[in-house]
Amino acid sequence: MNRVSVLIAGAGPSGAVAALRLADMGVDVLLLETHAQCPEDMRASTFHPPTLDMMEAMGLLDALEAQGLRAPVYQYRNRDTGDVLSLDMTEIADVARHPYRLQCEQFKLTRLIAARLADHPSGRILFQRRLTHFEQDDDGVTATVESPTDIELYRCDYLIGADGANSLVRKLMGVTFDGFTYPEKFLTLSTPYPVDQSVPDLAYVAYMANPKEWCVLIRVPDFWRVLVPSTESEPDEELLSDRKKDAVFDGLVGHGDNVVTSHRTVYRVHQRVATTYRQGRVLLIGDAAHLNNPLGGFGMNSGVHDAWNLSDQLKAILEHGADPDRALNRYDRQRRTVMHEFVQAQTIRNKRTIEAGAATAQGEAQAQLAAIIADPEKRRDYILSQAMIKSREREAEIA
Ligand SMILES: Cc1cc2nc3c(=O)[nH]c(=O)nc-3n(C[C@H](O)[C@H](O)[C@H](O)COP(=O)(O)OP(=O)(O)OC[C@H]3O[C@@H](n4cnc5c(N)ncnc54)[C@H](O)[C@@H]3O)c2cc1C
Repeated sequence: MNRVSVLIAGAGPSGAVAALRLADMGVDVLLLETHAQCPEDMRASTFHPPTLDMMEAMGLLDALEAQGLRAPVYQYRNRDTGDVLSLDMTEIADVARHPYRLQCEQFKLTRLIAARLADHPSGRILFQRRLTHFEQDDDGVTATVESPTDIELYRCDYLIGADGANSLVRKLMGVTFDGFTYPEKFLTLSTPYPVDQSVPDLAYVAYMANPKEWCVLIRVPDFWRVLVPSTESEPDEELLSDRKKDAVFDGLVGHGDNVVTSHRTVYRVHQRVATTYRQGRVLLIGDAAHLNNPLGGFGMNSGVHDAWNLSDQLKAILEHGADPDRALNRYDRQRRTVMHEFVQAQTIRNKRTIEAGAATAQGEAQAQLAAIIADPEKRRDYILSQAMIKSREREAEIA
């Protein structure tokens, strides 16, 4: 039986940050990942200011900045009217150490952390290891892990399920994943095509509202990424076809057939939160604990904030003898509350706003946004909220 203090299943951003932070605090930690390396998937690509503070504290920020782009301005553009509303995060430079979004793909973070863990005195990462089962008792957790050649057993004080949306840990805990799934799917397309040459004054992050087909345009160093919704009836083959790609880019740059894509992904979008993030010695973080639509770029950031909070609680328990029930229930209370009050509420609102167009009844949502932006106090409040600074403040208020 292998022995470790904290075992983490899943080397996505949430599990990787928890592992490195705990290891840096001197906690004996093992991170397990099913794949042969951290997957290079085109998913999250926005780091918000509080997450950048965390990256700085872990000594990762310079390496991420070197592989990313700073986006201090983001826009809401109306595809019908051509109106552009811009928000400039340098307005909150008095409270944000990093008053910008860093556009950098999530795999760059996980790969940096994997390299750090490869020769860390307290932490380790093992690839091609899939957690398949666990059992807990008063003294610890025994986890069963499948390797390419063997079944391995691990005994740990605490198990963290950071195993993503389909979390086996959450399912084995028997925890309900409350919420709903949107009827439409989302399509993302990545292209090296210079989309900004066809859309005047385009910021690195732009939400393009329209009741018929809204879209999000996001710049990462090598690509423009475009996110559009499908109708309920469009099959995946149609969404992934050149015909669809041409239609999306016809609307944005004209001559969609000239645009070459590097990635196309179709996925379902959920708004769901686990009814608890804790069961005894087993904890959930990241997508294993909650899911939300990508409008605002809060998913990965929330997972990192979970990892940050939970590693503080575990350190207090393991190194300073804090009461486990108190510390871990606090983690659950703080992080689940801000997930409901902020991330779920805000992403649902963001989707309604982007769906709105001037010609519809929902045009009201756009008008409200314009009114917020025109009022300096409300605008500041809005920027602080979208930058996740408010959610971190709220988390700290919860006892
Ligand atoms: C298209 C798209 C765009 C997005 N854009 C943004 C954005 O701009 N900003 C943002 O903040 N979020 C965004 N998100 C959400 C973001 O990608 C997720 O919230 C984030 O990846 C969650 O990280 P995680 O570590 O919790 O889970 P994951 O990244 O899913 O990682 C889970 C890991 O666990 C591993 N694993 C699974 N089961 C096991 C097991 N049994 N044993 C061992 N390992 C296991 C998996 O292989 C995986 O590596 C986006 C999502 C999508 C789909």
